[in-house]
Amino acid sequence: MSRRKFLHLIAALLASTSVAPLTAAPAKRIIVVGAGIAGLTAAHTLRQQGHSVTVVEARDRLGGRLWTSKRWQHMPVDLGATWIHGAKDNPLSALADRIGAKRLITRYADTTTYNTAGKPLSNSESRQLEQWQARIDNALEAAQNADTDQSVQAAVEKALNWNNLKANERQLVQFILNSTLEQEYAGGSHELSAHWYDAAAAFKGDDALFPDGYQVIVDHLANGLNVQLQHVVQTVTWSEQQVTVQTNRGMFQADHAIITLPLGVLKSGQVTFSPPLPARKQQAINTLGMGTLNKCYLQFPSVFWPEDQDWLEHIPTEAGAWTEWVSLTRVAGWPVLLGFNAAERGKRIEQWTDPQIVADAMQTLRKLFGADIPAPLDYQITRWNTDPYARGAYSFNSVGSTLAMRDHLAESLGKTVLFAGEATERKHFSSVHGAYLSGLRAARQIDNP
Ligand SMILES: Cc1cc2nc3c(=O)[nH]c(=O)nc-3n(C[C@H](O)[C@H](O)[C@H](O)COP(=O)(O)OP(=O)(O)OC[C@H]3O[C@@H](n4cnc5c(N)ncnc54)[C@H](O)[C@@H]3O)c2cc1C
Repeated sequence: MSRRKFLHLIAALLASTSVAPLTAAPAKRIIVVGAGIAGLTAAHTLRQQGHSVTVVEARDRLGGRLWTSKRWQHMPVDLGATWIHGAKDNPLSALADRIGAKRLITRYADTTTYNTAGKPLSNSESRQLEQWQARIDNALEAAQNADTDQSVQAAVEKALNWNNLKANERQLVQFILNSTLEQEYAGGSHELSAHWYDAAAAFKGDDALFPDGYQVIVDHLANGLNVQLQHVVQTVTWSEQQVTVQTNRGMFQADHAIITLPLGVLKSGQVTFSPPLPARKQQAINTLGMGTLNKCYLQFPSVFWPEDQDWLEHIPTEAGAWTEWVSLTRVAGWPVLLGFNAAERGKRIEQWTDPQIVADAMQTLRKLFGADIPAPLDYQITRWNTDPYARGAYSFNSVGSTLAMRDHLAESLGKTVLFAGEATERKHFSSVHGAYLSGLRAARQIDNP
């Protein structure tokens, strides 16, 4: 089925569910594990169809990896996902339109890149960077056509004759791998599969963010749902007739369960299944990667960076250190910078204290904008890798994984236990729209197993 046809089907499904129950089948009792976008979408859809739905969620809040902080007055910032990636024809754009959610567009065209000394790239430095980018693109294209998979890093190192590169050339290569791949896929270049790292399909169009936060979507989907917060699921016991979900605060029984646990949580084994998960589902859990992306928002008393630029990039001496920054000034009018650390660097700094992270970020900003820039008024920092209910930011295709593994992860246990969540989406993993589509899929499966 083409994407266009698929999206039409979804639009038709949503339109019909909002007026009348779709199904004449008897109402079922359904437990949804996890109140992230996948779980809330499934629960919202099934409730509209007349089923009896309970959502159990470990945290004391809704949204999972959608998490809007309202700590700063008039400046709600998203600590999890920020953007609808590719807003054109994206099902989330349709949903946001229906609920009248405001959106703003950030543009990659509005990017300034700074060299290791902290100066904007000269024309010749920009050309040099483009040439290295072309060499890396060629190396990865060749690696995608090779018989054996390898890591992105290994493929690039071989093709570029790594041992003969000078230190500054290696810095450029690592900058490109970090800013274009690690920051996007959250896996390290040593872990990303050269065959499949970019297997996710993309929607067209710009990236859109919610000035009121992604929370607007969460609140809409959760409206009227029975959500049991602070219920940590421990075991899922199922048969062809029913399922029992044991939490730290009691037991729930139902005809079906929809499990939307993040891949990182499934990997940890902290939730057990009885009977145990089939071998190929367990293998998918073990093999697919869970990456790290961390955010550090800094609020300043005034803007000292180029106000018309959305993205500020920096070629660091230490691989992956504060390479990507987003300015919320042009788009939202706020004196706020958002710095990212992905993959290994992102994991490492989770061990640091907040003041250490802020000091490290400020060292980079002083290099780019001068020693006399003001200190931040406040900061907000994430630690997704050590978050017990996420254990990472989002999934990626690691060396040794196959596309079919996403399908294995999505496979239901009999007709009783269904699976959703970003990692279960072969085409749209790692995104909010992927999680959303997976929730719609799981809801459809309840009545059409
Ligand atoms: C920093 C960051 C930036 C991102 N940026 C973007 C972006 O800009 N655009 C984009 O499209 N995507 C982005 N993503 C990815 C996107 O946020 C996720 O793909 C999506 O939100 C996942 O939704 P989900 O429902 O699959 O999982 P989750 O939101 O993780 O939902 C799963 C739920 O299960 C709960 N849970 C876990 N363990 C238990 C348990 N034992 N018992 C009960 N409940 C449990 C969790 O608390 C959680 O609420 C980003 C992610 C991060 C972390």
